[in-house]
Amino acid sequence: MMPTETETQVVVAGAGPTGLTLAYELALAGVRTLVLEKLPQRVDQVKGGGVQPRTAELLENRGLLEPLLKRATPREQVGGHFAMLPVPLDCTPWNTRHPFPVAISQGDIEDVLEERATAAGARVLRATPVTGVEQDDDGVLVTADGVRVRARYLVACDGGHSTVRKLLGVPFPGRPGTHQAVLADIRLTAVSALVPRQLGHMSTLTRQGGGHWAMLAPLGGDRYRITFGRAGEADTSRDTPVTPEEITTALRAVYGPGTTLGVVDNASRFTDATRQVENYRTGRVLFAGDAAHIHPPLGGQGLNLGMQDAFNLGWKLAAVLQDRAPGDLLDSYHAERHPVGAQVLHHTSAQRVLANPNPGEDVAALRDIVTDLLRLPDTNRHIAGLMSGLSLRYDLPGDHPLTGDRVPDTDLVTEDGPVRLSALLAPGHAVLLDLGGVTPAGLRLPPRVDLVPATSAEDLGAAALLIRPDGYVCWATDGESGSGADLSDVLAERLVGARGSAVV
Ligand SMILES: Cc1cc2nc3c(=O)[nH]c(=O)nc-3n(C[C@H](O)[C@H](O)[C@H](O)COP(=O)(O)OP(=O)(O)OC[C@H]3O[C@@H](n4cnc5c(N)ncnc54)[C@H](O)[C@@H]3O)c2cc1C
Repeated sequence: MMPTETETQVVVAGAGPTGLTLAYELALAGVRTLVLEKLPQRVDQVKGGGVQPRTAELLENRGLLEPLLKRATPREQVGGHFAMLPVPLDCTPWNTRHPFPVAISQGDIEDVLEERATAAGARVLRATPVTGVEQDDDGVLVTADGVRVRARYLVACDGGHSTVRKLLGVPFPGRPGTHQAVLADIRLTAVSALVPRQLGHMSTLTRQGGGHWAMLAPLGGDRYRITFGRAGEADTSRDTPVTPEEITTALRAVYGPGTTLGVVDNASRFTDATRQVENYRTGRVLFAGDAAHIHPPLGGQGLNLGMQDAFNLGWKLAAVLQDRAPGDLLDSYHAERHPVGAQVLHHTSAQRVLANPNPGEDVAALRDIVTDLLRLPDTNRHIAGLMSGLSLRYDLPGDHPLTGDRVPDTDLVTEDGPVRLSALLAPGHAVLLDLGGVTPAGLRLPPRVDLVPATSAEDLGAAALLIRPDGYVCWATDGESGSGADLSDVLAERLVGARGSAVV
């Protein structure tokens, strides 16, 4: 039972994938964290259906991927898609252990994250919607269903309809939805030959017929996830309940009379609205995930974008709260993550045009041309990097070409034996990886930085690298690293004084 007045370091509004990833990151760093969630329990409503390769890497860096893979839906090992065009995106040129998207339901992702976040010390309070926010120079006062919580910071992870955003009057500029669609988990009692038998490339799961389009993903046995819509549907209210008759009509139109609906496990409507807040920080309140950006769900981006916001923000908030960094380190969260969100809004807008189920001659011609372009290796690599998140780099201070890059999960040998880089990042510390015995005597390590002398079979392109807790290089050298005292200052500055931006 929570007292009516309480105090913590960070309040996270919303226990979706963004809020729970952030809660895990903060708790791992020893920050007292309280998650306030509106819903009494997790609902079965389907939303995001998987993680992209870069998110898989980041989860692996924290030991969170393995428990998720146990819950993944088996799928053909095939690359992702752009605008549902029939060319798999090939991530293998990006040097990753996870070149394919992993199919896991958002509910399972949230379950695992919540279990790990609470085990690490975060508290999650359900049936406690945030209803009021006041802030001053020292912190925030959050009101939630009779509970008043004083905290140093509030992070709004309360989704596209964010209450926190509305309470603070933060605008959410962009475009309202023009098309609406239904997403439902269903069971079929009979299937025609047109129904896909296995979870393969997205283009093999989509069909049109009878004025409808549909995407039907087999989840095992009689379970399927259907997404469907039809032209001119924008006027149905998002809150109008989806009826079994509506689903039957779409199923029959696209897959013929031999396909029969049994049970609807859950169903909801969504639109292609596109919006982004202008600044991810308003004083002591930060915005992450859908609370900061929404876009059409094309190419499975939203959940990934939100979780990656959280990986970027978590270690920075912890460093500021633990007096290891000045408060303006938090401005680099906006500088780094806003352009990444803007890029996703940009390419989902393009995908929305290309994936139009009623394309007309002009869009059909454009689609043919883009399909041909995707067959060219360089174009495919570029779009694969964009959609998977693997090509993201931050424009961080420093001359070395690796600065700002992600580091592949390489095999290393340390004095303790073989280890993968991901395992070294699991505690959530920064890692100073010394591959050439170049760190000088007298080096003072900044707090929460682990020095790891190692050898690597793969040439990582530097003799030593400082890798931030979120897996991006913030300093590297080819051999020269200066005196111990000089390098100590450089490392401390690069780690917590960074005013980066994204190169996406
Ligand atoms: C049809 C569809 C398909 C999608 N497919 C994919 C996909 O394949 N891949 C992908 O990456 N993304 C996908 N997405 C997007 C993805 O679901 C979202 O981007 C993701 O849920 C965002 O996570 P979040 O934690 O930021 O917000 P949410 O998941 O919206 O979580 C917000 C949480 O805040 C809570 N909350 C709301 N108000 C309050 C309040 N006042 N106080 C406290 N708590 C509050 C809510 O109950 C909720 O639990 C899809 C979305 C849709 C609609």
